[in-house]
Amino acid sequence: MMKNVEGKKFGMVIDLDKCTGCGACMVACYAENNIPFREDETDKMLSVSWMHVYKLNNGKSFPDYEECFLPRPCQHCEGHEGHSPCVSVCPATATDYDMATGIVSQIYPRCFGCRYCMGACPYHVRQFNWWDPIWPDGMEKLLNPNVSVRMRGVVEKCSFCIHRYQLAMDQAYVEGRREIEEDEYQTACTQACPSGAITFGDLNNPDHKVHQLAKPDPAHHGHSKNPKAFRLLERLGTNTKIYYLTSREWVRKSGDNYLEGEFKSKAHS
Ligand code: SF4
Ligand code: SF4
Repeated sequence: MMKNVEGKKFGMVIDLDKCTGCGACMVACYAENNIPFREDETDKMLSVSWMHVYKLNNGKSFPDYEECFLPRPCQHCEGHEGHSPCVSVCPATATDYDMATGIVSQIYPRCFGCRYCMGACPYHVRQFNWWDPIWPDGMEKLLNPNVSVRMRGVVEKCSFCIHRYQLAMDQAYVEGRREIEEDEYQTACTQACPSGAITFGDLNNPDHKVHQLAKPDPAHHGHSKNPKAFRLLERLGTNTKIYYLTSREWVRKSGDNYLEGEFKSKAHS
């Protein structure tokens, strides 16, 4: 396996033709990141989940009905030179764009809960903690010691399992290396997906599979050169690092992506 290169930009490719909607990525994310839950989770508007699997359909009736599952973590928007929508509005620098990795962080002790970031995020990935987490008896012993538990009053979101990156870099340092290999840093959702729909790695590294699938074009804010790839709401200029693959035109259009010469049909307006 080749060495990593300078100037990393971690990102993901999610193949929607492979995703079965099983939800393993969501469960793995909950366990890995100590995501709080409540006794009654019936009101999903109040639930916290960093990875959410949406169910889309083509709006047609049987026998032309089709559906698709779309896993949606934080899109780790780069915007223009690190001006992600959420980062631009946070008055406390509680969320920040890391130029060394491309990861948009969330620093809980700085967050004072104004929720500007939630209003600014076009992807609805941020959630507010209305309550302090209460873990069922004994479960506190199973919490991940590498991820801080969040308190009431702060916003949280997907971190690309950044603690795993830090652990991998620490291990490399101990072994006298300055860099890590592709398989040394993988997110929990990537590893948990039974159908291999999620690929994670450094979009800047041509040796990483994620780069080969996404084919990002740096001259056009990372727009993919792969005709099967698209990013959600790409026209907003959020310059996200989650690329989706699909062979189905209606799925691509559901993400508000149109090829040259295509027009919005009523079904997707
Ligand atoms: S998806 Fe939302 S929370 Fe994530 S970087 Fe973009 S604006 Fe921020
Ligand atoms: S809720 Fe927290 S992270 Fe979001 S803008 Fe306010 S201070 Fe920043």
